[in-house]
Amino acid sequence: MSEIKVQNFIDGKFVGTEKYLDSFDPSTGEVWAKIPDSGQTDVDTAVKVAKSAFEKWASTPVAERSKIMMKIADLLESRLDEFAELESRDQGKPVWLAKSVDIPRAVYNLRFFATCALHDLNRSSHMQAVDAFNYTMKMPVGVAGLISPWNLPLYLLTFKLAPAMITGNTVVAKPSEMTSVTAWKLAEVFNHAGLPAGVVNFVFGTGPNAGDAIVKHPDVPVVSFTGGTVTAVKLRIAAAPYSKKLSLELGGKNPGIIFDDADLEKCIPTTIRSSFMNQGEICLCTSRLYVQRGIYQTFLDRFVAEAKKLVVGDPKSPDTFTGALISKEHLAKVKGYVTIARQEGATILCGEEPLNLPERNKTGYFMRPTVISDVGDSSRLVTEEIFGPVVCVLPFDTVQEVIERANAVKYGLAATVWSTNVNTLHTVSQKLHAGTVWANCWMVRDLNMPFGGMKESGTGRESAKDSIEFFTEEKTICVKLN
Ligand code: NAP
Repeated sequence: MSEIKVQNFIDGKFVGTEKYLDSFDPSTGEVWAKIPDSGQTDVDTAVKVAKSAFEKWASTPVAERSKIMMKIADLLESRLDEFAELESRDQGKPVWLAKSVDIPRAVYNLRFFATCALHDLNRSSHMQAVDAFNYTMKMPVGVAGLISPWNLPLYLLTFKLAPAMITGNTVVAKPSEMTSVTAWKLAEVFNHAGLPAGVVNFVFGTGPNAGDAIVKHPDVPVVSFTGGTVTAVKLRIAAAPYSKKLSLELGGKNPGIIFDDADLEKCIPTTIRSSFMNQGEICLCTSRLYVQRGIYQTFLDRFVAEAKKLVVGDPKSPDTFTGALISKEHLAKVKGYVTIARQEGATILCGEEPLNLPERNKTGYFMRPTVISDVGDSSRLVTEEIFGPVVCVLPFDTVQEVIERANAVKYGLAATVWSTNVNTLHTVSQKLHAGTVWANCWMVRDLNMPFGGMKESGTGRESAKDSIEFFTEEKTICVKLN
């Protein structure tokens, strides 16, 4: 495949910019695309276009907006193979994973919000004493700034785009600089589906340039961000003078708690997935496993044996479980935690065996699933988000102790609990500081239920209905009848 040249998508057209950045294929380390290095001028143009498209889109009936979004979903679904391959090339994940999870989920997000908003009702009340009738109306906020990360490129972008569009906002979005190609192709689908020009605009480039310009733009009153906790602090500061609506979905350091009575036949395969799927680059991945003393050694032996079996390599191969990490820098950062483990005297049970890669992948950013034991609770491996295929396994004795240890980090995104005792599942789940707790499962997600992080993992837990509210302003109209 020859090098792809991505262009910004503004006013329904693909437009170039002055400077371009290299985009690397993580599985080979080669530059496979050039993407715009957009700055203030590009963002200004996109916001101006989005602002002028706003009134018409906002007054388009929701049923009409829904039809267009359903068409986008259908077209995306009909190009499943193409999009899965692109996203794998962009991000390094196995093609089968993009095909079975990421792209279908992007389609689902579009369909879910396109239909959900059709059933959204306004509120009303009659104040008998004064004979006044109150009712509410929801208005779109305006131009929505959407900033998304690289780990689940289309999945997370559509999770923002869909509620923003269906509620009548227009959009200026900036996907991660490392995974822009898939979003650029999605713009093609928008045009084929008949989305009016200017409703969605993509400005590609880096966070500090294009992202910051969106966050600080006075004509962007609502910003939805998914990314790291450190970046979120910068966004809060940048947005503060403008009183913007701000949604922040951030990092995690998710505990998995496995009790003596857990069904290991189910727990081990799911915990392998929750630890290593997508190279461990999912904000919801478990990265510290607390295992009750009675089964600690049995669990560890079986878990390590399964981790060693996972095939690392060419994302195109259907046998590959772990593809390439996103970048050279990220691989070095993740491996840095293994170095810390060694320096601290921890035991590295697997992950350092030589890789057996095809020739073309030898320059890619690969790493084996790594399991570490004998780590202290205060180690950076147990307290910091690693965001790679590295998991620490720690023994525990009592319920109270494990709850305290699981809660002793600054993050609170997700957790898993494994037990065959229903009382244990409920008691422990209720006491964990995490926005989502999965009991005897992982990543089972109902969009009707709130999602998001506690503590430094985010600002709010949003269900689909909450997302619709986030992208709207609800006003009350009070009419005195007599
Ligand atoms: P990141 O470095 O924080 O970047 C996220 C997005 O913000 C990217 O598009 C980035 O652009 C942009 N950005 C960076 N600096 C910015 C600035 N000053 N102003 C505006 N935008 C800026 O995060 P990442 O490394 O892409 O993603 C991994 C993180 O996301 C992890 O912490 C993970 O846990 C978290 N995450 C959370 C959820 C959730 O739902 N809670 C879901 C997925 C991921 P560039 O990349 O182009 O610089």
